[in-house]
Amino acid sequence: MASEIEVGTKYIPDMSKTEIEDLRKQFTESSLKVIKDNIDRMKKSWPNRPKEMEYFDEISNLFGKRQQEISEQKQAGKKVIGYTCMFAPIELIIAAGAIPVRVGSGWYDSAKLGDRIMPVEVCPVIRSTVGAKMVHLSPFLELSDAVITPLTCDGRTKLSEILADYKTIWRMSPPRVKDDAHALQLWKEEMMVIKQKIEELTGTKITRENLKEAIEKLQKATKAFRRLQEIRKGPPVITGRDAMLVNQTSLWDDIERWTQKTDELCDVLEKRVEEKDYATYPDTPRVMITGTPMIWPDSWKVPNLIEEANPKGLLAVDEQCSGDRILYDPVGVDEWTMSDMLNAVTERYLMACTCPCFTSDNGNEDRVNWIMDRIKEYKVDGVIYYVVRGCILYAMEYARIKRVLDRMNIPVYYLDTEYTREDVGQMKTRIEAFLEMLEARIDI
Ligand code: SF4
Ligand code: SF4
Repeated sequence: MASEIEVGTKYIPDMSKTEIEDLRKQFTESSLKVIKDNIDRMKKSWPNRPKEMEYFDEISNLFGKRQQEISEQKQAGKKVIGYTCMFAPIELIIAAGAIPVRVGSGWYDSAKLGDRIMPVEVCPVIRSTVGAKMVHLSPFLELSDAVITPLTCDGRTKLSEILADYKTIWRMSPPRVKDDAHALQLWKEEMMVIKQKIEELTGTKITRENLKEAIEKLQKATKAFRRLQEIRKGPPVITGRDAMLVNQTSLWDDIERWTQKTDELCDVLEKRVEEKDYATYPDTPRVMITGTPMIWPDSWKVPNLIEEANPKGLLAVDEQCSGDRILYDPVGVDEWTMSDMLNAVTERYLMACTCPCFTSDNGNEDRVNWIMDRIKEYKVDGVIYYVVRGCILYAMEYARIKRVLDRMNIPVYYLDTEYTREDVGQMKTRIEAFLEMLEARIDI
């Protein structure tokens, strides 16, 4: 019967409402199991895990407390603005009284569903986001009144077109050459268009007062974020997975509460440094991950393998926009005038970003420098270069990064994978061989 069919769009096929509902339930249950399994594994790996981590465990449930809170705030009149990538200006969203949520999807099950309309050559982040939309799986995407979609790669560009059938889409085109003289000007124009759209949607004018307040809120979050990252430079008082979980929950949590909870966790961890109460052996090989973003919960596959391997590794730091790059750079304001604040926001979202979507004669030097600095600061023994199949940007920059790491005498391993659990056994063998080699180098 016609009423039982959800009519498709330009891309999405017609599907029966029963199938949509069955798949949504099945994927939600499977996701809840993955979330629980990840948290159980993190607890098992770190028997003395502080009780302060329980807050982040709760927020990590994508179908739990935070979804409920956002739904209630939306019912009370607040707007929700989703974003698919880190170029979206969070300060402007918060200044207008809206709720920002990152909506890129990391579900393996929904990536398989995306295969129905896209070939496997398309990166799984995109297939998964589309698959999630097909069955209304992502609570934050469903709750979004508008979605900011920066057009950074081909996948994201076409994603914005597909999602436009469901949502109000605000595209942003970041310049691909950020050190050109006119790049900042172009980007400022993009910012001003988004600012106006946010104001129209929310009915709230972004003023000097509310923008200052929003910038200060995010600056405090950055301070807490950096405090945690600073602790990770020392002896291992927190596992890499737990730190990643803390960092990643900032993408959908209430940012003020997240800041407070992160500071509370840091208080405990700083004491643990003094007490030498470690989360793992101090001489565990320290690994950096760089590459494609790892999105909670399914992409915990690789971090789980690294920190549960034999021999074990410690995920000391990452260079990913799902981790160290989320909040590291604050918006730096000299004068709290409207014009200065808007310039500072514009600059922050362009110049601080090390995404490989940029190109330059110096070969994305900012990313290279970021990686080199982190290797030294976090005493990294080896780097895992993580790429999901179809992610051309990261795959192509590998040769550039490997050359630099070779010169630093830092071993690097190229780990390519898919959104699947089927390659876990094979990946375990590859990761353990890499960690054995790192351990042997440390022992020499
Ligand atoms: S890797 Fe680049 S394009 Fe992809 S989400 Fe991160 S910032 Fe955006
Ligand atoms: S993983 Fe790579 S290809 Fe996929 S959306 Fe992100 S940058 Fe684009």
